[in-house]
Amino acid sequence: MTLSEAYEHIKIDYNVMINGKMVYKALKEARERVIGNERAQYSKLKDYLSEIHRSNPWSSTILDVTPILQSLPLFNRLYISPDACKRGFKTGCRKLIGLDSCFLKGYFGGQLLSAVSQDANNHFYVIAFAVVDNETKESWKWFLILLQEDLGDQDIHEWNFISDQQKGLYKDKQVKNVVWECAKCTTDAKFQASIKKLKRINEEAWSYLEKFEPACWTKAHFSHGPKCDNLTNNMFEVWNEKMVNYRSKSILTMCEELWCYIMRRMTKYKQVLETHIGTEIAPTQQKNLDDIMKDIRYWRLVWVGDDERRVFEVQQGSKKLSINLSTNKYTCKTWQLTGLPCVHALATIARRGDRPETYVHPLLKIGPAIATYQHCIQLNVVDHPNPTQSAANAPGSVSSMGAANSGATTPQSARAKKSIIRTIISCTSPV
Ligand SMILES: [Zn+2]
Repeated sequence: MTLSEAYEHIKIDYNVMINGKMVYKALKEARERVIGNERAQYSKLKDYLSEIHRSNPWSSTILDVTPILQSLPLFNRLYISPDACKRGFKTGCRKLIGLDSCFLKGYFGGQLLSAVSQDANNHFYVIAFAVVDNETKESWKWFLILLQEDLGDQDIHEWNFISDQQKGLYKDKQVKNVVWECAKCTTDAKFQASIKKLKRINEEAWSYLEKFEPACWTKAHFSHGPKCDNLTNNMFEVWNEKMVNYRSKSILTMCEELWCYIMRRMTKYKQVLETHIGTEIAPTQQKNLDDIMKDIRYWRLVWVGDDERRVFEVQQGSKKLSINLSTNKYTCKTWQLTGLPCVHALATIARRGDRPETYVHPLLKIGPAIATYQHCIQLNVVDHPNPTQSAANAPGSVSSMGAANSGATTPQSARAKKSIIRTIISCTSPV
């Protein structure tokens, strides 16, 4: 709040005229108190992380600090991944990890990095978050290495990563539409036709996109592993909306409120899924399947004469596709990408009199959905008025001989002596 804003606030809301100097002094004191509170929270971080390990064993928490001569170390960055979230992700979520960041609005600034996935029901699922000073290649690398330590090697587990990079690149409506058209094609043939169209209307955009592997941005070349058709990180929208409430808070308050939000969210979905026990597929997928089923009447089927009656030509006007339920070959590829039979496959399945649910990918069934939420997050006890182990100074603050935070230096000058200490509070082996 600026001086004039404070002056107007007192005048309008309280109908009081006050001397400008008094407003200045009051504002200065309020600011010092807020900053003091924020600074004090950094010294409690180590206690907080120890508490997480007491209440939620096997969780991952990492506090990176920079040592400062004759002073408390300087806060560098922080990583938290609740054990319940790691387990839930590994047992039930899609093999998809979305990465996102947002600015923190506290006095000491910084960025919140997060890794989220998607459950069988298409809801986002938080795996880990971190507070870093800046969003740089180096900070993302640090975050991803820790994530890999928690979740296992990407090459073995075949995790797929998605981020919102370059989403708002093109402002021209026509170019934007054709870029989206290219991205949304599910077959290479359609993609080649659309990319040629883009070259015709805007060669610059075409040549820019040529630099990227199609597997980075086009559905036709996406991995079929995650069984979802997210083109962008729309799963981050709800998470980012929530962040608006938390990101202006002090570091410890923010971490704890995020922790509680994740806990409430997990409990909520556990309760929702309890009402669906006995069903075969996740409720959202059932609804999607029912919606696709409504359109099968527009498609005409021609059986090709195979003994097993599993190969059909599916037609609508001049459109013609082939479906082979034995070899899992489907021309439109939507089924492989999403895990849910497409309208062409469903028409074939209905003709055979089979149950559509049996053709849904195992990752979209009710089992993985329930498994995602079977572990619960426990509450932390966070009331530490007197920290037992002083963890770190706030960024940009250095205290003399470990006394109260008095002197200050810039983060840059402090980092000139850079040598990172990793304060890792962890348990030895999972049960
Ligand atoms: Zn299809």
